[in-house]
Amino acid sequence: MKRTITHLADGRELIYFDRRDDADRSAIDRRPLDPRPVASELRYDPLTEEWIAVAGHRQTRTFLPPADACPLCPSSGTRASEIPAHDYDVVVFENRFPSFSGNFGAYEDVGGLSEVRPGVGRCEVMCFTSDHSSSFSRLSPSRVELVMEAWADRTAELSALEGVEQVFCFENRGEEIGITLTHPHGQIYAYPYVTPRTKLQLGAASRYAAGHGGANLFADVLAAERAAGTRVVAANELWTAFVPAAARWPFEVHVYPHRRTPDLAALSEQERAAFAPLYTSVLRALDGLFDVAMPYVSAWHQAPVRRDRELAYLHLELFSIRRAPGKLKFLAGSESAMGAFVNDVSPEEAARMLRSQVDH
Ligand SMILES: [Zn+2]
Repeated sequence: MKRTITHLADGRELIYFDRRDDADRSAIDRRPLDPRPVASELRYDPLTEEWIAVAGHRQTRTFLPPADACPLCPSSGTRASEIPAHDYDVVVFENRFPSFSGNFGAYEDVGGLSEVRPGVGRCEVMCFTSDHSSSFSRLSPSRVELVMEAWADRTAELSALEGVEQVFCFENRGEEIGITLTHPHGQIYAYPYVTPRTKLQLGAASRYAAGHGGANLFADVLAAERAAGTRVVAANELWTAFVPAAARWPFEVHVYPHRRTPDLAALSEQERAAFAPLYTSVLRALDGLFDVAMPYVSAWHQAPVRRDRELAYLHLELFSIRRAPGKLKFLAGSESAMGAFVNDVSPEEAARMLRSQVDH
């Protein structure tokens, strides 16, 4: 893998990840871009002990542009996009409208009990392919491996940034899920705090270890799902994909490596190679359920950078909000207001449906 670092016209970093050693990466971004916006501010909610990023500038971001104005397609002779090159394999660049960045202004006391601090960190965009109309499910195994190498690279580098506490690699897919660009891409958030869901999971893992002779909760969940088998969707010698017993979403699949590692940077070459065909077969199974491109969120859960790394267990949580053709699961009163999920699809039935689509 060859890594080439360049900069866009407003100073943002852009990194090409290429399979070939001889790709030409000399193209220069000459667009007249506005100065970079300042980072959002973080406000602490003392009632939930959670940080909320308040980012007014994000309201102005690009919203579903026509395909010929896609900012993630390569630049052509007549049109300059975010990517100066005329073609690319995988490319990562700093988000133009980041929630977190190193570029922050002064923040004033807002009164109340809420502590305020700058949204230190970084937000990056990763394009998985230069092919606008492709999707992750249709990437070749070798391209998925290159994406994983890029994720590993970004995880290691962002983890080393001052103030970063957790690195989150994810993909939102589908307009139903609020995606503003259809070009196959994901995002990486380097947060200046440990996210609420990770905190919850690691708290549970800590109590479980204390009550079970130091056993790892995630490892035991994986072992129990493999033993039960009823919710396993697909597996190979190094990874297992299963619907969790207490799934909160209509179609939810967790993908675990059999060997515990804290993060993507710690995966072996063999593990990356084994993940690729398994994961894309699960994504295709998801799309096969109702013969529509399913909206989904695909989220890598990684260990925090500075704490609880021995408790954590790298895994991917994939879920769709579509529960039936023409029907979406919305986060209404119980879920949004109380965090109490009601799932309309039984996890065993969801697993059976997905299994029947794997390798179709
Ligand atoms: Zn595009």
